Amino acid sequence: MSTEKEVREPTEKQQDFSADVSRLLKIVTHALYTNHDVFLRELISNSADACDRLRYDSIANPELIKDNPDFRICTYNDTTARTLTVVDNGIGMSKDELADNLGTIAKSGTAALMEQMEQINGDKDKLKLIGQFGVGFYASFMIADKIQVVSRKAGTASNETWLWESNGHDGFTIRKASKLEMARLDGKRGTAITLSIKDDASEFLLDQKIEMTVKEYSDHISVPIFLGAPSIIAQDKDAKPINSTVALWMRSNKDVTKEEYEAFYKNISGGFDEQIMTSHWKAEGTIEFSALLFAPTLRPWDLFDPSRRNFVKLYVRRVFITDNLETLMYPWLRFMRGIIDSEDLPLNISRESLQHNPTIEKIRSAVARHILSDLDKLSRNDPAAYATFWGQFGPALKEGLYDATEHRPALLKVCRFYSTNDEGKSLTSLADYVERMKDSQNKIYYLSGESLENIKNSPQLEGFKSRNIEVLFFTDTIDDFWLQSILDYKDIPFQSITKGDVDFDALDGKTNNQENTDNTDDGKDGKENNIDSNISSLITKMQELLKDNVHNVRQSKRLTDSPVCLVAPDSGVDMYMERVLRLHQKYDSGTKPVLEINSDHVLIKRMAELNAKDEDIKDATMLLLDQAKIIQGEPIDNPGNFAQRMSDFMNRAL
Ligand code: ADP
Ligand code: MG
Repeated sequence: MSTEKEVREPTEKQQDFSADVSRLLKIVTHALYTNHDVFLRELISNSADACDRLRYDSIANPELIKDNPDFRICTYNDTTARTLTVVDNGIGMSKDELADNLGTIAKSGTAALMEQMEQINGDKDKLKLIGQFGVGFYASFMIADKIQVVSRKAGTASNETWLWESNGHDGFTIRKASKLEMARLDGKRGTAITLSIKDDASEFLLDQKIEMTVKEYSDHISVPIFLGAPSIIAQDKDAKPINSTVALWMRSNKDVTKEEYEAFYKNISGGFDEQIMTSHWKAEGTIEFSALLFAPTLRPWDLFDPSRRNFVKLYVRRVFITDNLETLMYPWLRFMRGIIDSEDLPLNISRESLQHNPTIEKIRSAVARHILSDLDKLSRNDPAAYATFWGQFGPALKEGLYDATEHRPALLKVCRFYSTNDEGKSLTSLADYVERMKDSQNKIYYLSGESLENIKNSPQLEGFKSRNIEVLFFTDTIDDFWLQSILDYKDIPFQSITKGDVDFDALDGKTNNQENTDNTDDGKDGKENNIDSNISSLITKMQELLKDNVHNVRQSKRLTDSPVCLVAPDSGVDMYMERVLRLHQKYDSGTKPVLEINSDHVLIKRMAELNAKDEDIKDATMLLLDQAKIIQGEPIDNPGNFAQRMSDFMNRAL
């Protein structure tokens, strides 16, 4: 094997890796990985995919596998040449495919990810990120200083056998494979990957190490994996695969161990995280399928990349069909990984016709129901794990609230929000919120904004906090979208506290035994009916000054500590919503907000006492408006004017 004396085709010109690959390889070869074994898992998973793909193609075109119908993966070493070879009789690659698949990274958003990686300093954080990405084939450069890939696409002639070669830093070459090199293949098709093992990775030249690693990471791969060269295995009737080859998802969930699930998850995710939830079941009834699905612990780096595709693989009676069927999972479950194996679909179904297949639609719905119910269970059995899950995937899941009417109730059940209940420190379900509602309360109050930090101390909350009325915090952009179509939860309407008037009187009407609110409220009520004439002329004055900036100025019932706040008029869109819509360029209502003033605040009281012509009123009014905007995270119209007014004011005061 090691003495190749034939005359080779002239070596082809060296080709460069795409920039992404070069960057990736730098990361890989700088020993970022602590666990080198994973390269074998990656190679075997590629080989198994290649077999799966050809098995599918051979349904329509049996000629493709006629001469060698049993799929297998062989792995063997050569201690003299210091090489480890992994061979499969799968679909193989053409010359162009070799260059494309092993010279570039087709995954969308790779460039952005690599850039992000370069800005991270800590190895641990880098590892996390790259782990989510999965380095696949390139992981082999951790333990090899040269890799040769001999490949021949199924159904092509022997002179279409190509050899790809690289040392992992100077690009790669592709040339025609020699006869001897061709002999590495298992018959007339497939791929043989030969790794020249680095000095410090000699353990991978030991059979025991290979066998152990295969058992650990690839036991459930359904293609048999043999230890030995294909020519020997083909002749040895007694050769036994070193993996169990039983499709894990077909076994009963009672018989599968935690470790087996974990290994399986790592195989399909290529990831470094562990699954946070495993859902494994068999659906029987009008539609029949087995599903083994995992929720990851870490959010994939491209979760919100619009081109992110569904990763769940579709099998039909153990035959892999596709891992690229958009309609198999709802977009809001796009983070799930795993396998769905249908008993109903015909094997020879074309991938195109699957897109709108009614069986697929039924599976998608049944799967979503099952996952949502498992998530609900997880939330009850392990709230801490669920909180982690929610932090990573809540925003994606909530997309389903406006997408999938059918699953709304189940989705609302698993939704979690921060609220004033625990000062924004812990999550609550809607059911628990409702449980804590006051008798007089008939709305679910919420405040939306960019971040928890931003809105936790909003002045708009003051009236609610003082009355002990819980307010939910909605901080995901998506919240403002589903709120447009979901107006209530179990017939209790959602109400933004930054929109329109809040009927505190009605709320207070039934909570009359709380001492301090009682007092202030009585006072307010008094003023409400018989508004202080100073305040009312201040309001008129402010309204006149701000006629271009606000809809109107009114006395506030929601403030206790702050002098002013901005809210949306009764008929308008919630203030934060308006900003979100503006950002998404879907909206330019130009709705002016309402400025509410706190007539109990010393500052407002002082202003009310001043002569209406006083210049100070003008400055104070403008400053207060800007202040209200700043607290709310809104941009102010003219920061220069604001600063000038502020320093003038300070000057006068000092
Ligand atoms: P991924 O498997 O996530 O696509 P990899 O880096 O592992 O990424 O592999 C890159 C691509 O190279 C694969 O998508 C596949 O098209 C091709 N490839 C790798 N190994 C094989 C193989 N043994 N047979 C056929 N194609 C392969
Ligand atoms: Mg791969």
